[in-house]
Amino acid sequence: MRRPLIPGNWKMNLDRAAAVRLAARIASRAGSLEDVDLAVFPPFVHIDAVRQAVAGSRLAYGAQNVYFEPDGAFTGEISAAMLVDLGCRYVILGHSERRHVLGETDEDVNKKLLATLGTDLVPIVCVGELLAEREAGQTAAVIRRQLDGSLANVSQQQIGRTVIAYEPVWAIGTGKVATPSQAEQAHMELRKILADRYNTESAQAVRILYGGSVKAANAAELLAQPNVDGGLVGGASLQADEFLGIVAGLKR
Ligand code: PEP
Repeated sequence: MRRPLIPGNWKMNLDRAAAVRLAARIASRAGSLEDVDLAVFPPFVHIDAVRQAVAGSRLAYGAQNVYFEPDGAFTGEISAAMLVDLGCRYVILGHSERRHVLGETDEDVNKKLLATLGTDLVPIVCVGELLAEREAGQTAAVIRRQLDGSLANVSQQQIGRTVIAYEPVWAIGTGKVATPSQAEQAHMELRKILADRYNTESAQAVRILYGGSVKAANAAELLAQPNVDGGLVGGASLQADEFLGIVAGLKR
């Protein structure tokens, strides 16, 4: 049984007071949601304030990015150990905005993943095709290339604690959502790639999340797909009611 996971990626939004309010509101209602893992991903500068706001609750938190070096002269970067020190449980790697706005490559994602797996952090590795790639029938090839590149030298034991997020770029922040069958198809493809790289048992154990304009109104159908193990939520995670509405859509 794969335990559902619903992370809320706040991206570069909210000031400190708003971040604390939102985290506290979600945390106060997370206690009754025992059958799902919930996490929020504030900007780095608000992580410590969120840590205090959710202390003692079931709401976990993580970071939106990490650097692969352990320490040193890397101005502006944050290491995995620093995130652990702040109590983070998760880190998002290779989000489409990092890949397509900030130029991150599969090789960068791989280095960050290996650094993350050297700690207790749970990595969430994002993959997904552009609209032109989908229209050219290249979705399977693109997600295979991204997954293979991102998972280089990741062992069978390490894949067991890695989360994958399928996030078609055309659906992120656009209001266009993949149909449940498009999502399910891509997730089945990802599980097949994992089975090819590792084995069927390992592939079956990995949680694969869907991301791309998930909201309370469309979550239930997406989350009901057999290979969809949760949702990586962007915009809709900035409002507690909307985010918790998505969680309410989980099959139970
Ligand atoms: C995301 O940030 O990963 C995301 C899927 O954003 P949105 O839900 O806003 O499309």
